[in-house]
Amino acid sequence: MNDILLLKLGEIVLKGLNRRSFEARLVGNVRRRLADLGRFNVSCLQSTVYVEPADESADLDAAFEAVRDVFGVVKISRASACEKDKDAIVRLAIECLREDMLRAKSFKVESKRSDKRFPMTSIQLSQYVGGELAEAYPNCAVDVHSPELVVNIEVRDLAAYVHTQPVDGAGGMPVGSNGIAVSLLSGGIDSPVSTYMIAKRGVRLIPVHFFSFPYTSQQAKEKVIELGHLLTRYCGDMTLEVVPFTHIQEEIRDKCPEEYFTLIMRRFMMRIAQKIAERTGAKAIVTGENLGQVASQTMEAMASTQAVTTLPVLQPLVGMDKEDIVRYARKIGTFDTSILPYEDCCTVFTPRHPRTHPKIVEVETAESALDVAALVEEALAGLERIRL
Ligand code: ATP
Ligand code: MG
Repeated sequence: MNDILLLKLGEIVLKGLNRRSFEARLVGNVRRRLADLGRFNVSCLQSTVYVEPADESADLDAAFEAVRDVFGVVKISRASACEKDKDAIVRLAIECLREDMLRAKSFKVESKRSDKRFPMTSIQLSQYVGGELAEAYPNCAVDVHSPELVVNIEVRDLAAYVHTQPVDGAGGMPVGSNGIAVSLLSGGIDSPVSTYMIAKRGVRLIPVHFFSFPYTSQQAKEKVIELGHLLTRYCGDMTLEVVPFTHIQEEIRDKCPEEYFTLIMRRFMMRIAQKIAERTGAKAIVTGENLGQVASQTMEAMASTQAVTTLPVLQPLVGMDKEDIVRYARKIGTFDTSILPYEDCCTVFTPRHPRTHPKIVEVETAESALDVAALVEEALAGLERIRL
């Protein structure tokens, strides 16, 4: 008989009236995540998502690994199955809980029945299985108040299931339950992590990359595509928007004072990101900025960058140490790609002495030689979309 997976929902349980739509969103995200792993039935009942193999094609081991990256799930249990008979359940529990029962000093049994035709109530079933387990493992006593081990039994349509200690899920909220944002994705270490963190808050993301060919190479773009691809594991399907940025950077280089190059470039990124947001229904811009990390990430520099957008700029890494960001990047699997040695558009025309504490009006004056609106339109007209 087939094992199943039980996914315990996290914060979405708290969401009262919105709960159902959150649950539906999560079920949809789990289904999409499992689409390549065979046929499964995915359903939600009492704040638990059930993943049941529908036929032989279903690869439950792969499914177990895959659902660990789905936001909105806090705990995952793999449950063993048997026929819906009280003695079959006892036999299965004695066998599959052997290690747990030998290790623990106390336990209790909790039962749930979604099949109400089962001839015992949940309480009767818990008492019966509890008694038999206590007899089989005399080292482990029943304690219904603070047991070391909780043995769960579920009697469902197709079978009965036994499970114990769950593993941790990814936490967070289901992607798509909290709106859409544009995420500025460079090839660096930081922006894949900031993208991950905002996705974890339930936001669907539209990654945007500014590409300065030939100052940055085709490999630099491939690297960003690869990073975006790695992130789909958490963020779901995404479409990367690649913005041609060369002409803007050349114009800045030719017509603006050098110490403002980076600031002006970043203001263009924000304006273009806002336009993409307007077109796609996104309500915020995500960046990997980190206070004090580089000249363009002082408070004054951020003020001058953010002055050109009316959208909230979400910077989930703003207060983190670099080591912590690196640890995250390793954990989510983007670090090794991020450190591949391809040039970044920010460093193509880096000023020798960048302004670190600019006044907004200075930056406005510095960029006044440019036809900002025309350059933004031209870049948008050349957008390339890549499905990840
Ligand atoms: P990262 O490691 O993400 O590249 P960084 O420390 O190098 O960050 P900057 O180069 O100053 O910082 O960029 C700050 C943020 O601006 C990035 O985290 C990213 O969100 C965005 N950004 C920078 N360059 C690009 C680019 N070429 N395309 C898209 N977004 C970019
Ligand atoms: Mg960078």
